[in-house]
Amino acid sequence: MSFVQQINIGAQYQGLDEQQIFDNIAARKKELADSLLILGHHYQQDGVYQFADLSGDSLKLSKEAAAVDNKKYLVFCGVHFMAEAADILAADHQVVLLPHLDAGCPMADMSTRGAVEAAWPELSVASGVAEDRIIPVTYVNSSADVKGFVGEHGGSVCTSSNAERVLKWALDAGELVFFFPDQHLGRNASFALGLAEDEVVLWKRGEPQGGCSTEELARAKVVLWDGYCEVHMRSFPEHVHTWRAKDPDVTVIVHPECRNEVVRLADMSGSTEGIIAAVGAGKPGSHWVIGTEINLVERLATLHPDKTIDALTPGCLCPTMDAIQPANLLWVLDNLARGNLVNRIQVPPAIAVQARKALDRMLEI
Ligand code: SF4
Repeated sequence: MSFVQQINIGAQYQGLDEQQIFDNIAARKKELADSLLILGHHYQQDGVYQFADLSGDSLKLSKEAAAVDNKKYLVFCGVHFMAEAADILAADHQVVLLPHLDAGCPMADMSTRGAVEAAWPELSVASGVAEDRIIPVTYVNSSADVKGFVGEHGGSVCTSSNAERVLKWALDAGELVFFFPDQHLGRNASFALGLAEDEVVLWKRGEPQGGCSTEELARAKVVLWDGYCEVHMRSFPEHVHTWRAKDPDVTVIVHPECRNEVVRLADMSGSTEGIIAAVGAGKPGSHWVIGTEINLVERLATLHPDKTIDALTPGCLCPTMDAIQPANLLWVLDNLARGNLVNRIQVPPAIAVQARKALDRMLEI
C-alpha cells in the first residue's frame, strides 16, 4: 500500500453533484465493508454523518472503534486530535485516516507542547510549588503531544463529562493543578467543585508568570491555560435572557466549553453525549434551547419532532469540523479501494505510550 498526505483531492470530485458523491460513497462502503469502519463525530455535517458506522463524541468513538478490531481502516470524520486519540487506543494492525488535514481544533492548537513545557517550570518557580506537586490535567481536546506531557508528569486526561471528577482527583493528588487547554471547562469544573474565584487563575500565554502576580499564584489551586473554543464562546448571557423572555418555560442546556456566565444562567450543562441524553429524556411538547455546535442542534431537532428545539446562538458552526465534505470522504475511500492510504494519522510510539498513560489514568479515576 502506498501512503500519501494530501489536502487537494483533485478536480475530478468537483464535477460530481451531491447525489453522485453519496452514491459513490455508499458503493465504496459496500466494497470495503470487510475492512472499513467510518466514525462520525456529532458535529459533522449530515452529508458525512449519514455514512458513519459509529457516531459519538471523541473518546466514545475512539474506544468503540478500538473494540471493533476486525476492521483495519478507521476513517475518522472528526478533527485531528480525535484521530490521534483513535490511533493511540487502536490495535497495532488498525490504521486511522482523516478525510481532510485542515480538520484541526483551534482550541487544541492553543496549547502546544513547547509552550506547555516552557510554562511548567515558570509556574513552579512563580507559585513556589515544586514541579512534582503540580498535577497537569488536559481536556481530551488536546494534541497527543500535550497528552504525552501530561502522562509523563503524572497527570490525567479529562472529558467534558468527567472534568469535575478528574479535577477533584488532581486537587487531592497535589498542591496545584495546571489545566489545559480550555479555560472555560476548567473554570466551570472548578466552580462546580466549590473553589473560590481567587483560587482559580488564568495563565496567559506569552506574559511573564502567565500575567499573574506571585500573590495570586500563591492563593491558586487551579491554574487555567488560556485556551477556548471559539464556537462555544459565541454564546453570551444575553442569548439566555432573550430566550427566557420569549418562553419562561424553556429549558436551556449548554456545553461546559461555554463561558461560566452562560453556564450559571443555564438550567443544565452537559457534554455532547449528556445533551443528547437530556433532550432525549425530555417530555413531549417541551422546549429546549441548546448551546452547542449547530449541526448537533439541528440533528436533535430532526430526531425529536415532538419537542421544540432551538439553538441558543445562531451561527455556531465549527469551521474545521465542517472542512470534511462528502467529497473528502469519497476521496479517502476511492484511494483505499486502489490500495492507497491517504491522510494517515500516526502518533509516534514514544508519545503514544505517555499519552496512553494519561488516558488510562482517567479511566482509573
Ligand atoms: S467545536 Fe470547538 S472544541 Fe470542538 S473541534 Fe471545533 S473548535 Fe475544537
